[in-house]
Amino acid sequence: MPIMAERKPVVIAGAGPTGLMCALALRQQGIPVVLLEAEETLTHDLRAGSFHPPTLEMMAPYGITEKMHETGIKVRHWQIRNRPGDLVAEFDLNLLADVTLYPYRLHLEQHRLTPIQLDLLRQEGGAEIHFGHAVTGYTQSDDGVTVTTSGPSGDRRFEGSWLIGADGGRSVVRKGLAIDFEGFTWPELFVVVSTPYDFGQHGFAFNCYIADPVEWGALFKVPDAGPPGLWRLAYPVNPEESDEVLLSPERVEAALQNLMPKQGAYDILYKSTYRVHQRVASSFRVGRVLLAGDAAHLNNPLGGFGLNSGIHDAINLCDKLSAHWHGDGGEDLLDLYSRQRRFATIEQVQSMSIRNKRMMEERDPAIQRQHLEEMVAVASDPEKARAHVLNTSMILGLQRANEMI
Ligand SMILES: Cc1cc2nc3c(=O)[nH]c(=O)nc-3n(C[C@H](O)[C@H](O)[C@H](O)COP(=O)(O)OP(=O)(O)OC[C@H]3O[C@@H](n4cnc5c(N)ncnc54)[C@H](O)[C@@H]3O)c2cc1C
Repeated sequence: MPIMAERKPVVIAGAGPTGLMCALALRQQGIPVVLLEAEETLTHDLRAGSFHPPTLEMMAPYGITEKMHETGIKVRHWQIRNRPGDLVAEFDLNLLADVTLYPYRLHLEQHRLTPIQLDLLRQEGGAEIHFGHAVTGYTQSDDGVTVTTSGPSGDRRFEGSWLIGADGGRSVVRKGLAIDFEGFTWPELFVVVSTPYDFGQHGFAFNCYIADPVEWGALFKVPDAGPPGLWRLAYPVNPEESDEVLLSPERVEAALQNLMPKQGAYDILYKSTYRVHQRVASSFRVGRVLLAGDAAHLNNPLGGFGLNSGIHDAINLCDKLSAHWHGDGGEDLLDLYSRQRRFATIEQVQSMSIRNKRMMEERDPAIQRQHLEEMVAVASDPEKARAHVLNTSMILGLQRANEMI
């Protein structure tokens, strides 16, 4: 008897947080999964670290949220500051206590989330997981996909019913589709540095945005291997200079002294540069190929939306794919996935992250003052403050996207 298309596994490219979330969500629905990861192990680079209430809610039924709380830091307040670090406005996420079980942001490094997801996936059983298998190409027909990989164990082929491209910003899966990745790349580079120095002693909340026309910054605390944790600062730099110069001890020291002057040098544990894009794929579905996470959209880190959106994609997509798999809906459910998630990405994530960055870096002092005065007015009016945290915690955008049919 020929294998029915719907009984061939779903192939997932990429074992980042999005791909792992898809694999776990599908396995819990009894759907066979093949997970292909280019690297030999989970990646460990310095990336996301801030989770919004809806993301914690979505991951809770899988046991992920509970595990994250074992080491994550609850962040009830976030702040906007100016140079030289004066407080402008503070927002209290406890204003959301009537709409979510998690009225805070949870800070935990992305590389501490992915091992939790992988462990739970292994405990669930039934997923074929292949590290060291980089997806190199694929073909699709009406009833399935054939995916090719290369790696230390040689070239291989995998047959599947669907292919989910969760293979990050440089997605091979997305590049294999005749679709645009619309948007732009910011001209500057970002530097991220981490230090154990305790900014909390100066009144900094565990999540702060610092407005400045020359060197705006985003500062937040992550747990690291345990208390006292690390403070991570991101700031813009000139892309024409080399990494060697930008990450030299003198430059990094100057950036931290600019944020908080102090006696003696800062202890720096990690530092890196990265380029930032604002882009959205023109569709998240082409036939039997679906895109999720950074493969589908990229944004700047101001607001902490990137990884959160990847998890939102994974949950939305796998709910619909499972419904279709089990006969509760046609393939048009997957077009709805694309519409809802593109809407949330464009209307909320892209617009808020671009607005946040422009507000932080505004060069005209009069406009900057006006922006910051608006934030003071919002923060001091309980109704406006609640509306603001509903929006910036991604709750409103998700509600609006999920209302789409
Ligand atoms: C410095 C920095 C700070 C950030 N801060 C935040 C934040 O505070 N909050 C937030 O929400 N987001 C943040 N982000 C964004 C966040 O890290 C990403 O949105 C997130 O990593 C997306 O997850 P993903 O699984 O979609 O993609 P990735 O994490 O990129 O995972 C993709 C996986 O696919 C694998 N892969 C790649 N190519 C192939 C292939 N051909 N075949 C098989 N596997 C492949 C990769 O090895 C990787 O494991 C930040 C990003 C950076 C760079």
